[in-house]
Amino acid sequence: MYIDGKATAAELRARVGAAAADLKAGRGLVPGLAVILAGDDPASRVYVRAKAAATIDSGFHSVEHLLPARVGQRDLESLVRALNRDPAIHGILVQLPLPPGLDAEAVIAAIDPAKDVDGLHPQNVGALWNGRPGLVPCTPQGCLLLLRQWRPDVAGLDAVVIGRSGLVGKPIAGLLLAENCTVTIAHSRTADLPGLCRRADILIAAAGRPALVRGDWIKPGAAVVDVGINRVISADGKSRLIGDVATEEAALVAGAITPVPGGVGPMTIACLMRNTLVAACRAAGLAEPAL
Ligand code: NAD
Repeated sequence: MYIDGKATAAELRARVGAAAADLKAGRGLVPGLAVILAGDDPASRVYVRAKAAATIDSGFHSVEHLLPARVGQRDLESLVRALNRDPAIHGILVQLPLPPGLDAEAVIAAIDPAKDVDGLHPQNVGALWNGRPGLVPCTPQGCLLLLRQWRPDVAGLDAVVIGRSGLVGKPIAGLLLAENCTVTIAHSRTADLPGLCRRADILIAAAGRPALVRGDWIKPGAAVVDVGINRVISADGKSRLIGDVATEEAALVAGAITPVPGGVGPMTIACLMRNTLVAACRAAGLAEPAL
């Protein structure tokens, strides 16, 4: 079974849009998201444009700050602090990676944790690992929502997460642990990765290595979530996106698998909209809508 990320994301975005319309009609509250892009990395530009379009589509207030690559650390942090004070802005997202010379950690630390819709501020990272309310990173949240299409309750299952980045691998592991999975985090120095993967009921691939995970690495019936986005040139010379899993091989063995594209990718933006709505409700002291 393929898990349809496009359809799941569209449904979530429709629910977020409906909740935003209710907020506006009932409370006059319009969630606001500010996205900051420094430099002109083409992939980052595409992501920022897609995020702004989704923000407007959700009925939110959208602000984009497009800064030159040579922007100073101090100016960038001042902008973040100004957005922290702006009552019309409930979510702040700094598009990563930042151009060389800028300290991303310091910029993220400058974001008000209540507006940190990417869930990367140390306070939100701590909240995730300690089971306290916070804002959960969007891609990991999207992976969990897709897994729920396979099984609503994953407690007791063995999960292997390939990748230990702070942006993807570690927060996914934290979320799965909170769901009572037994979690192993694998990485580039892991011994016998195929053998480890073969024991996983849930396999999350977030290594950024095209088709790393082969069909014979999958435990029959397991759920496979492919987070990787890799641009490769096919035999016909055309460029295309593939994930970290050899999808066709893996689909013959897996119980459920997410495709690339159309799997985790669309969920990331839908979860960003969800986080912005949640942040706006919390800022106004309102109960979060069930989404
Ligand atoms: P990263 O480069 O920061 O981290 C990659 C991790 O994979 C590292 O921890 C590394 O140890 C591990 N790794 C690398 N090669 C490995 C190997 N051969 N075997 C085992 N482990 C290996 O990347 P990231 O930011 O975590 O992103 C991972 C992938 O997810 C990338 O392809 C990225 O484009 C994609 N991504 C997708 C979305 C989305 O919305 N779908 C969002 C963020 C990232």
